Amino acid sequence: MPVSLGMPSAPPPVLAPRRQTRQIQVGSVGVGSDHQVSVQSMTTTKTHDIGATLQQIAELTAAGCDIVRVACPTDKDAAALKVIAQQSTIPVIADIHFQPKYVFAAIEAGCGAVRVNPGNIKKFDDKVKEIAQAASDHGTSIRIGVNAGSLDPRLLKKYGKATPEALVESAVWEASLFEEHGFKDFKISVKHNDPVIMARAYELLAQEGDWPLHLGVTEAGPEFQGTIKSATAFGYLLGQGIGDTIRVSLSAPPVEEVKVGLQILQSLNLRERKLEIVSCPSCGRAQVDVYTLADEVTEGLKDVTVPLRVAVMGCVVNGPGEAREADLGVASGNGKGQIFVKGEVIRTVPEEQIVETLIEEARRIAAEMGLEEDGGDDAAAGAPVVSVH
Ligand code: SF4
Repeated sequence: MPVSLGMPSAPPPVLAPRRQTRQIQVGSVGVGSDHQVSVQSMTTTKTHDIGATLQQIAELTAAGCDIVRVACPTDKDAAALKVIAQQSTIPVIADIHFQPKYVFAAIEAGCGAVRVNPGNIKKFDDKVKEIAQAASDHGTSIRIGVNAGSLDPRLLKKYGKATPEALVESAVWEASLFEEHGFKDFKISVKHNDPVIMARAYELLAQEGDWPLHLGVTEAGPEFQGTIKSATAFGYLLGQGIGDTIRVSLSAPPVEEVKVGLQILQSLNLRERKLEIVSCPSCGRAQVDVYTLADEVTEGLKDVTVPLRVAVMGCVVNGPGEAREADLGVASGNGKGQIFVKGEVIRTVPEEQIVETLIEEARRIAAEMGLEEDGGDDAAAGAPVVSVH
């Protein structure tokens, strides 16, 4: 018989309601306040290497990525877009800089959206009418992607550097050009590598129109620094309801970007929390090696896809309390661990059996919930393999 894990019937609280925006489609994924905040990443393969690109897209999809972007710097890449857009199971956005001809190629290839950077497409403003028409004809949406590193030279001259006001002025100007031509299916980003400038820019932009916003701290850095910068800026903005789709930029494999993005959304209750390890930081009172215990339990349960809170506590101060609050937990002391399931001590085991007991109990609960996917998630089942045909 399934056990109740005490999941709340009401949705978990969020810090603020979503800012109301217009809705757009990026292929099959809706972007805007009526839709959940989506997670994006970008492939690192040469786009014209279709097999490698589709393989990476499959890995990103398995990790939970909702939308993927691919670079399109050459004719060969543009030519590959059609097959990639057709065979990817998540919408593909073509990322276009410098060459407007690739915008049209991407639209015709069936990409879900095209990212344009008005700051580095020569005479972009003159092309807006044609781009709007082609995008409209094909049901393709656009991202106006303003970036501090490639700001319109006119605005750079006016403001001296990429200030929040400069980024917003550039975005609003380009938005007005598309809207003048009756095209409204676009979202906007105003990225900067400084989370403070970035956050301020998005706050200002959010007051200027009802466009869906794509959040990103550009060039956020290596994994640790980039994660902190992105979490800080996204938490600040999403905590006010600002942001409809996110991309964490890391100098790390793109699957890591997806994991960080999902974790940020889960932390803000914008996505259902999955496995959550509540573990103490340990201190002089700890009677077990909490770090190792927490790591081993996390590793052992990484394929669990049900919402499950597991408490791993080092001593009896907060241990029993936290363990009781969790779905499953351990409070350690005197070389033993008291194992709790939904607040009840179900058994006491020697320290060396804590990890295996927790994992066994977690799996039993997950199975009883009837929700655990066969063999766990795709990441645990091994990297998916795609074949190009
Ligand atoms: S639960 Fe115990 S060991 Fe862990 S931090 Fe708190 S007092 Fe220290």
